[in-house]
Amino acid sequence: MGAENKVDHIKTIAVGLLESRYGRREATWIVRAVFEDLMGWSMTDIVTRGDYELNQYTADKFRDMVDRVAAGEPVQYVTGHARFYGMTFIVNRKVLIPRPETAELVDLIVARNADRSDLHLLDCGTGSGCIAIALSRNLPFCHVEAMDIDSEALDVARANALKMSCKINFKQADIMNLPAAAVESRYDIIVSNPPYIADSERGEMESHVVDYEPHKALFVPDDDPVKFYRAIAEYAFKALTGGGQLWFEINPLFVNEMQTTLSCFDNVNFEKDSQGAVRFVSAIKSL
Ligand code: GLN
Repeated sequence: MGAENKVDHIKTIAVGLLESRYGRREATWIVRAVFEDLMGWSMTDIVTRGDYELNQYTADKFRDMVDRVAAGEPVQYVTGHARFYGMTFIVNRKVLIPRPETAELVDLIVARNADRSDLHLLDCGTGSGCIAIALSRNLPFCHVEAMDIDSEALDVARANALKMSCKINFKQADIMNLPAAAVESRYDIIVSNPPYIADSERGEMESHVVDYEPHKALFVPDDDPVKFYRAIAEYAFKALTGGGQLWFEINPLFVNEMQTTLSCFDNVNFEKDSQGAVRFVSAIKSL
């Protein structure tokens, strides 16, 4: 042990390592996220406790985590945690890291349904469970079901539901092969953020996404980029109540395809995200 394990020193070295890939601002934010996760320290602790000397185990662990981020791994996978909708979700490489635009989708659904209670919801392709859990905590007395094809993703979603004290009914199911609704017309809301990046877009994507996040949750074939939406829409047409809502996060490139996919529904309404891209669509099943 010695001066090399002092917080100020460790911080300076880490920011230096991360700076070339991420820039100074983000490098500083990453160092803070690692400290928060490893030590439970607040921003104030990190700034004011520069002389504190980490023990060897913690210092080694910190350097190891920073090395992984410096090599390109998303910091959320390194810490195992990601913030979403005011909550800290457990994440690993079996699930996508929750995106800020997905929080905007939750905002839209919560705003539209603010004066209702006891709604029945289904989230298709739940991944970490972020949409299902955020809705469960923000719509009064709702009943939430969520499904995913991947049992390891469901393990993450279940752990998150437990962590956030949400009672959600999880099921393993393939969107392309959804079971015939046992009871028809039972959901008030069906929501999904399915895979929507066309294979041909892969080249333009950031390497931290392509190299680390689950391709199963991201990519769709160029010849049928809305195949998951079509399958969910067909299911939703049977499984939604009259007046029930279908909500999707979408790829702005496939607005026309979505229009066709949703032609059986009423009130098809596209919305932009805060970056100005057409990122969401909602539709109503006729009464
Ligand atoms: N929005 C995510 C991204 O840009 C993709 C999410 C998805 O495919 N559903 O990486």
